[in-house]
Amino acid sequence: MEKSRSSNLLTIKFGGTSMGGHDAIRQVARIVIDHFEQGHRVLTVVSAMSGVTDLLKQTARASGDGDEAAHVATIGEIRRRHQETIEQLVSDAIIKRDALADIDGLLDGLIQMCHSIAILRDVTPRGMDLIMSFGERLSARLLAAHLKDAGYQSMAIDATELIVTDDNFQDAAPYMEETTTKVRTHLIPLLEQRKLPIVTGYIGSTRKGIVTTLGRGASDFSAAILGAAIDTDELYIYTDVDGIMTTDPRIVPTARVIPTLSYGEVGELAYFGAKVLHPKTVQPMIDRGSTVRVRNTFNPAHMGTLIQPQSEITEGAVKAVTVIKDVSLCSVEGRGMVGVPGMAGRTFLAVARAQASMYLISQSSSEQSMCFVIPTGRVEATLGSIRQELVKEIERRDIDRVWARDDVVIVTTVGAGMRGMPGVAARVCGALANAGVNILVIAQGSSEYSISLVVEAQDSNRAVQALHNLIAEVREVR
Ligand code: ASP
Ligand code: MG
Repeated sequence: MEKSRSSNLLTIKFGGTSMGGHDAIRQVARIVIDHFEQGHRVLTVVSAMSGVTDLLKQTARASGDGDEAAHVATIGEIRRRHQETIEQLVSDAIIKRDALADIDGLLDGLIQMCHSIAILRDVTPRGMDLIMSFGERLSARLLAAHLKDAGYQSMAIDATELIVTDDNFQDAAPYMEETTTKVRTHLIPLLEQRKLPIVTGYIGSTRKGIVTTLGRGASDFSAAILGAAIDTDELYIYTDVDGIMTTDPRIVPTARVIPTLSYGEVGELAYFGAKVLHPKTVQPMIDRGSTVRVRNTFNPAHMGTLIQPQSEITEGAVKAVTVIKDVSLCSVEGRGMVGVPGMAGRTFLAVARAQASMYLISQSSSEQSMCFVIPTGRVEATLGSIRQELVKEIERRDIDRVWARDDVVIVTTVGAGMRGMPGVAARVCGALANAGVNILVIAQGSSEYSISLVVEAQDSNRAVQALHNLIAEVREVR
């Protein structure tokens, strides 16, 4: 990381655990100051204190149900937590007084909103967003006050002033051009004057100024949007783990941090990688061809996982092994499907009508059966919906069976190096055979970045362990 020795523009984002209490926030401030004192201009983006967004959601729901008392308790708890943190983090009397007044003002406003919702007995997605936006507004003020107390020129900024979104409440998408103009006008001067702006993650506002949220866990995405807008040199996502791991360390104790991944590989990690990094984070970065680094607030010396446009092909090809649990394997079988166009289309539409998303699809070339994997919770609705759609075919016995097998898992090996490398599938299947694991279905995406296998749930850990052995020791070149 030669580049970081000169003065760079950094965007650094801290998650809910990093903002979780006064000790954690002290550590966050140390990292911010560290980057800043190295001469960089630093834009900081923060999540709400851990648990606060959930509490706010609960409060909004209860108020929507007409519960007048619920918000008093939860907002009281949120107020106490933030007041105590300020007490610990700020010693200057004036900074403390101002910060406490600021927090009180926000929470008093929130109480009124909950009160109105309780009277109306109705909470709209728009109302949810407004209420759920408060966690970040509060946490940004904690960090800014602490940095001010330490003698830095820091200020909390609500991203409602910066990120312009559509009005798809709860999952709003940014308008990048308008956002970029606002961000540049507001933030660049502050950064040039060597100030430390602390911007709220997760939230934005519509063109009309109505508060929106970008989806749960989307503070990472906010940081990428803001980083892209200021043309950041580096984007660091600070979280509470060292990086994205080769697999779940509870299953394989020797699991380790993956030093580099490409955007394509992160995409294949699907919801496993998403626990560490919000999937939308990469989009603004891909558009600019720049990198994201996942780092640990509580172990800042570790360089974490670097995510970059190109994949670094590693020896052994497999980089990570993931597992998706609580899924079922649904099959539609029958000789009458052979050569009949539209069967797959109708089946999949029936699945969609049952609100089930499919993780994996496979059909043999004989066309006598097709199968797909869906969450176990959607099985009954899905089978019902397919049987209804194919009722004639079933009557005619063109379709013999529409059924599901529970207690299966999808195990996936990911690595761009598997692309165009003959023998990878053989090694994957061989490893499972040696471990005595029976494979029910195999699927490889056309990207060739991943191979997914459906196995019985009881074989899950053994399968992951066997496949993890295929990952070569990677020399960590930094
Ligand atoms: N506070 C928000 C949430 O809990 C956003 C985030 O933490 O990224 O979903
Ligand atoms: Mg997160």
